[in-house]
Parts: sequence; C-alpha cells; structure tokens
Amino acid sequence: MPWRLFKRGEKPKVGFVSFTGCQGCQFSILFIDNILKILKKFDIKYFHLLKEKNKESDFDLIFVEGAISTKSQVKKLKEIRKKSKYLVAFGTCATCGGIPAMRNFLEADELKKHVYNQKLSKDSIDAGPVEKHVKVDYHMYGCPVIKKEFVNFIKTFLKKKEVKECETPVCLECPRKGKNCYLLEKVPCLGAVTHGGCNALCIRNNHQCIACRGPLKTANFAAEVKLFENLGLSEKDIKNKLHKFINNEKNNTKPHNKD
Ligand code: SF4
Ligand code: SF4
Ligand code: SF4
Repeated sequence: MPWRLFKRGEKPKVGFVSFTGCQGCQFSILFIDNILKILKKFDIKYFHLLKEKNKESDFDLIFVEGAISTKSQVKKLKEIRKKSKYLVAFGTCATCGGIPAMRNFLEADELKKHVYNQKLSKDSIDAGPVEKHVKVDYHMYGCPVIKKEFVNFIKTFLKKKEVKECETPVCLECPRKGKNCYLLEKVPCLGAVTHGGCNALCIRNNHQCIACRGPLKTANFAAEVKLFENLGLSEKDIKNKLHKFINNEKNNTKPHNKD
C-alpha cells in the first residue's frame, strides 16, 4: 500500500528497469511536459535514459518494463522484487508479454532462421509477463504507456493513495459504441477484449483497436474468434490479429476447427 512505503517529507526512491522490449515506454515519458519537475519529487536511483546506474539501491517504487524472456532475467527480476516495496509492470510487454511474446507461437527453428540469426540463447524461455514470476502491485498497460496515466499514477502515489486500475474494455470508452461500431461495418476491431483506459484513442483517430493494451482478463476470446470467423476472416488473419498483443496461453484465441 503506498501510504506505508515512505515517510512524509521523504523523497521516495524510484527506479526504472528494462527487460525484453523496445524501451519505448521509458522513452515516451521523457516527452511529458514538466517531466523533470515531476521526477524531482523522487530520489531517482536507476533510470539509465536519464541518470547513471545505481545497481545497489533498494526502491520504494520500481517500474519494470519489458517481457521476461530468459532464465537470467527471471533471477534478476526476483532480486529486484526483493528490494522494491512497490512494483509497477510498465507497459504491455511487462503486463502481458506484448510484442516479444509473439515468438511463443513460432517454432524455435523458425525463430533461429528468421529472427535470431541462428543464435537463440539456451537461456531463453517463453517470453511472458512480469507477473508470471513475481508479485505486481500495479499494471500500467499500453504500448507505449499513456503519458496522462503515468502522471495520474505518480500524483496519486505521492499522495499515498491507492491507484485504481482500469478493468473495463475499450468499447466502454468508444464513441462508435451502439451506433456505428466497426464490427457492424464488418471491420475487425478488438476493443471488446482489450483493457480500456486509453479513451479509445485509435477509434477517435479513425482506426480500429488492435489491442495494444493487452487482453482483458474477463473477455470472451472464444466469442471474439467466432465473431471474426463470421466476418469472413481466415484462420491465419485471425491469428495475426490476435497474436500481436493477445498471446498469453491462458487466453483461448485459437480459431475454431471448421470441420
Ligand atoms: S510495451 Fe511497447 S513501447 Fe513499451 S517496451 Fe514494450 S514494445 Fe516498447
Ligand atoms: S468493437 Fe471497436 S468500434 Fe465497436 S464499440 Fe468496441 S471499440 Fe468501438
Ligand atoms: S484503442 Fe486499442 S490499440 Fe488504440 S490505444 Fe487503445 S487499446 Fe491501444
């Protein structure tokens, strides 16, 4: 709980660490207006895009970016968890596996041939979310994370208040819902199975949702697959749409057997 983590008047010790990802989440927050002023409220112990590393520190608040994709990363992550009071899974790679977890659907030989230039490490494991290995206190979704959500989180955390996660789908925030939904136009849109909190950003900019904030835990993936089949999408097209961000084994996103 944030109110127990640091004393009033003290600057919370904060860190940003990165595993398998593009570091776009860390990078995007550097473009927040007044970011340096915001970060001055913290004692920044580790943020390699901004400051020299301090590997030995413990943290009141740690942002963990990226999927976990090797055994050595699991070990490192567990060490970080031990010395961090409050851990935020930062971005869709960290919350859900994201883009790095697309590889879980490919055969190792294919990966070696096309992606890793025949150098897939023996240390590799299926890429997955941080929560698969350690406790997560807050999930900040998005590829990349949304700047406004980051600022709201920081402000609430500094007030020692609990930060509430969005648990509803993109559809609830969508200006097209109930009238000119993309699905009525036979355009596949993943808003119904995707974590909201982005204010349906893409739809407001005339593009369907591609699920960049990851799969909603309560979503009915089997129904979504069936819906896409009824729209006439092939099995390959459905897999391509779903497996970009919805790639956790527990989500049943396999197209139905059409026999
Ligand atoms: S969530 Fe997206 S922007 Fe963030 S590290 Fe992963 S790929 Fe990059
Ligand atoms: S499916 Fe897409 S277009 Fe339709 S309501 Fe949901 S987010 Fe909006
Ligand atoms: S509308 Fe969908 S793809 Fe666009 S930002 Fe929101 S979750 Fe991501």
